[in-house]
Amino acid sequence: MSVVIKNGHVIDPASNTSAPLDVLIIGDRIARLGTDLRGSEEIDATGCIVCPGLVDIHVHFREPGFESKETIATGSQAAARGGFTSVVTMPNTEPPIDNGGMVEFVNRRARETACIKVWPAAAATKGRAGAEMTEMAELKAVGAVAVTDDGSDIASSWVLRRCLEYADMCGLTYLGHCEDASLVQGGAMNAGLNSTKLGLSGMPKAMEEIAVARLVRLAKLTGAKVHVCHVSSAGSVEIVRWAKARGIRVTCETAPHYFTLTDDAVTTFDTNAKMNPPLREAEDVAAIKEGLQDGAIDCIATDHAPHTPTEKDVEFDYAPFGIVGLETSLGLVVTELVEPGLLTMEQAIRLMTWAPAQILDLPAGKLAQDGPADVTVFDPHAEWTVAPEAFLSRSRNTPFAGRVLRGRVKATLCDGRFAYREA
Ligand SMILES: [Zn+2]
Repeated sequence: MSVVIKNGHVIDPASNTSAPLDVLIIGDRIARLGTDLRGSEEIDATGCIVCPGLVDIHVHFREPGFESKETIATGSQAAARGGFTSVVTMPNTEPPIDNGGMVEFVNRRARETACIKVWPAAAATKGRAGAEMTEMAELKAVGAVAVTDDGSDIASSWVLRRCLEYADMCGLTYLGHCEDASLVQGGAMNAGLNSTKLGLSGMPKAMEEIAVARLVRLAKLTGAKVHVCHVSSAGSVEIVRWAKARGIRVTCETAPHYFTLTDDAVTTFDTNAKMNPPLREAEDVAAIKEGLQDGAIDCIATDHAPHTPTEKDVEFDYAPFGIVGLETSLGLVVTELVEPGLLTMEQAIRLMTWAPAQILDLPAGKLAQDGPADVTVFDPHAEWTVAPEAFLSRSRNTPFAGRVLRGRVKATLCDGRFAYREA
């Protein structure tokens, strides 16, 4: 009936709280934050941080169509173990989520099988074909929280412009997978010294930056609100910073692999280091970190993209793009950003809770009295080794296998119930 999380350090960026406090949960709500609180069940959070359930606005749960990679059930379990209580699923399933019935399908599967909250993003164009707009008003009415053709960009600037106008009219944010496909030309990794050495065809940074520049220009033209997905290059950060300084309604995200790895990770031909956009170079990693520090980058998302071992166990050129990220994200943020002193723990948690929730106006990411009891408890000092074979995700495709991380989730509560609890 009532649970109290005791002796932890509460960080709630939405209310600028960072203090030793107990959290009392009654039913599915947060009753209050205070000292010496009592409940029928107690969780001892000594040495731990207690924060809002983490929010990831970019995941691929592959259902329907690719259930051998991931399902809404397994994806949500991986998310809960990573400390997440809210995720936004991308619509590039088979069939894609491009009509109201498909949005309802995701919502129903989430209700039936997910241990956390799944907020579907819907396609911006029918069949994600980049030609005809979806019925965005209807998508919004049945619960889509954003529109995107993620997985590919919309090639026609005319269609993109119309999508932005219509999405804005419907109160939906457009999530841009920014890629000039005509520049990709079968590329498998970043275009640079390493791709030349390895003899792999490269994807230039301009492929992403041209599309980011186009998107912010169209956001200015239409007045629509846009969000740039998975920013990977220094140039993209610069363009977003430029646009924000001019009042353009743009936000953006990056993913943990873009502030931890360079394309040196590809030199072993490890297909688990193949994603789109690709890992870039040291100057880009530095710019991503700087963007996270100065606010040019608004939030951290995983772009959790599961693939089966059979699909990844092929020559580099033929492997699909994408890596899983939900079970390593918090550990990478703590180890790579907080411990070296680039971000405070408060800043890091904001980038994974309140900031992403605000971008899509989700009822999540904060510890509000009478608000949903979505709470994560983690030990920021606990060390652990990434072991893909133990993932709750159905897939194993991570470039971080064997890496020692600090920051380990002890418990994740969603609507007052344990979505994950460390054994
Ligand atoms: Zn994408």
